[in-house]
Amino acid sequence: MAIGVLADVARAFNEVPHTSIPSNEPYGVGEGHAAASGERKEAKRAFLAGEGAWPAITRYPLLDTPSLDASERQYWQQLNAITDYVEQTGDETTEAAVIYEKVAAKLAEVYRHKEVLRLLGHVAASEGARDEEFRETAAVRAEESRGRAASMSGEIFGEPETELFEMMLAADIQLALAYWGSEDAAKDQIAREYLGCLGFESREEAEQKLATMPQGEPYEELRDDTMQIIREDFCEIFPDFEEAMRPYTGLDHSVKPADAQPAFQAALRAMGVDWPVRILTGKKVAAEASEARSEITIGELRNDFTSDEMLTKPLHEGWHARLFQNAKMQEQPHLQSSLPRTLDFGEGLPVVLEQIFSGKKRVPGVKYYLQIGLLKGLHDIGMGKEQSFHAVNEIMWRRAALQEKGPIDRAKLQGASYSSVMRTARGNARDNRDISYFVGARKATQFLNETAALPKEVRQARLRWLMSTTFDPTNPEHVELVGGDPAAAYLEAA
Ligand SMILES: [Zn+2]
Repeated sequence: MAIGVLADVARAFNEVPHTSIPSNEPYGVGEGHAAASGERKEAKRAFLAGEGAWPAITRYPLLDTPSLDASERQYWQQLNAITDYVEQTGDETTEAAVIYEKVAAKLAEVYRHKEVLRLLGHVAASEGARDEEFRETAAVRAEESRGRAASMSGEIFGEPETELFEMMLAADIQLALAYWGSEDAAKDQIAREYLGCLGFESREEAEQKLATMPQGEPYEELRDDTMQIIREDFCEIFPDFEEAMRPYTGLDHSVKPADAQPAFQAALRAMGVDWPVRILTGKKVAAEASEARSEITIGELRNDFTSDEMLTKPLHEGWHARLFQNAKMQEQPHLQSSLPRTLDFGEGLPVVLEQIFSGKKRVPGVKYYLQIGLLKGLHDIGMGKEQSFHAVNEIMWRRAALQEKGPIDRAKLQGASYSSVMRTARGNARDNRDISYFVGARKATQFLNETAALPKEVRQARLRWLMSTTFDPTNPEHVELVGGDPAAAYLEAA
């Protein structure tokens, strides 16, 4: 039990504005920032017309609001308070270590945001300068800042593993080689371009490289019986869920975002969450559960919800909302906000629930994992140099083209790829945040396969336990803090 100083620090931490702001949010344009929105559109148009190595985005109205300096100072005070306390008391508890890590991880996010501010300053200085030497110096500084922002993001969210990255890339190279010289003239052309973008000068070179790459499946499959059992358990834990979602299940059409509001509201109610669901007029953003504002928001202009998504997205966001709500009811302040480094499992679990309820298995986040690896230059063996947005977009839209079932629409694929690469390059520097989809779904799949094999009572107790707050049940320190795994005794005996 964290008492005294630790509880005070945890409470103070929960009050810092950046604590409940996800790391991606400051790179959005927010509401009512017309100039920034206009700039984003123009930057995309110019970039896709072939201008620049990175999109020309200079306006980030949310990046320093609330103030980064203020949050930095508060996080530092909290770290100092914990260090002093540990020094004086010799406290070696998991609580002290995890509370320290919570603060340190958020401070690292603030540092990454500040590095992007510096990057913006250097880019502006280099573009505005008349003096050639000054311009070049500023350009070098900009690249240094971009590299620092990228590696900070790797520290926070983890780096892609070379072996996993190469397994994924090997599958793509194989597909391209299959189209090279095929009767499908369009795909033949794209395949050659794709391999060229990866730096291969001939078919033989690609084949030689492929022979040295690890191959296989980097992912344990979600078992059929897991899907059935966990679905039944979920519906017993939330007995109103299926009935509440029936009007939105198995639709034969897609639904406009503005008309999806009732489905989200129904899912929230059935999951015992009393939050509003708000449509963001004129916004393209995905549906999101906001811990800071206790609400779900849906961008009016996001893609229409497919028939499956009318069930799975409300379920996904409802899961987050329920965890946030349960966290607020925790007695101990350090359990009232997410534990550190929980983004992967925290995202992975609802993503696997989506598969369970749609009945469609998939391996999530491969595209983001690849993009992050490509931005980092993992494909460029020996060089390992950070790559530009442009270089990665050229590879990724052609990868999408090779997977396309219908006719290839270059402009459309390039536009879609731009939005996808942007997710791993927020603030015009590599952003590893979305590595969590692949990593987390992999963890969550293993966890649920394991859970499904337990007796019903233990299983359901474990699923309820998962909802206590946002934590990672595969992390032993988290398990200890959140009261212990209800399945532990059973798993040990087995
Ligand atoms: Zn999510």
